[in-house]
Amino acid sequence: MTDAPLPAPLVGDLVLANRILAANGVLDAFGHVSVRDPAHPGCFLLSRSRAPADVEAADIRRFGPDGEQVGGPPVKPYLERFIHSEIYATRPDIAAIVHSHSPSVLPFGVTGTALKPLCHVCGFLGEGAPIFDTRTEFGDTDLLIRNRAMGRALARNLGGASSLLMRGHGSVVVAESVREAVFRAVYLEHNAKLALASVPLGPVNYLTPGEATLAAATTSATIDRAWDHWAAALD
Ligand SMILES: [Zn+2]
Repeated sequence: MTDAPLPAPLVGDLVLANRILAANGVLDAFGHVSVRDPAHPGCFLLSRSRAPADVEAADIRRFGPDGEQVGGPPVKPYLERFIHSEIYATRPDIAAIVHSHSPSVLPFGVTGTALKPLCHVCGFLGEGAPIFDTRTEFGDTDLLIRNRAMGRALARNLGGASSLLMRGHGSVVVAESVREAVFRAVYLEHNAKLALASVPLGPVNYLTPGEATLAAATTSATIDRAWDHWAAALD
């Protein structure tokens, strides 16, 4: 494949994305964020296996369509990098992915309560997040996406949606840019928190699909404002 240098501006945004997601409680010691490599179709940039808050530019590597490292000094990769490789293979419309274990989202993957948009900044949730259950195809596992077959099954369950819940594990959000993916991951957790507060109070008046579409279009124009705010708040 290629030993070409990594695109510096994208590496810079990816490092910031790791730190912003950690600072906002979306990623802790686990979870990861990637961005598609525009100069090398099928490839993507991802940190070595490291806690997101600690990620630096030197940790970023290029990975190929098979989820394996391409060029650069070898590193220990994230076990679940196949989430990224298989979604990029099936979703040419997206350029960034966040996989997280953010805690407020988890209950919606293990109960019958769907995670649907209930505030305007979460319109990207559309008609609600689909759920991927590893047990359906793979039986008893440790629930991690450890190979391409599991990544393919996850991508199939994601379909054309912008977010996916992983039963007993976490979630995935996808977007057209790394900044938009960060925005969606932060507000997926936000929407889940609001839902946990709202559902016990009574029937929830969610956004309609039409409202969700219109709200998502409006908020997508304000992503840089949120990004700049979150970046400025870092140490
Ligand atoms: Zn995970």
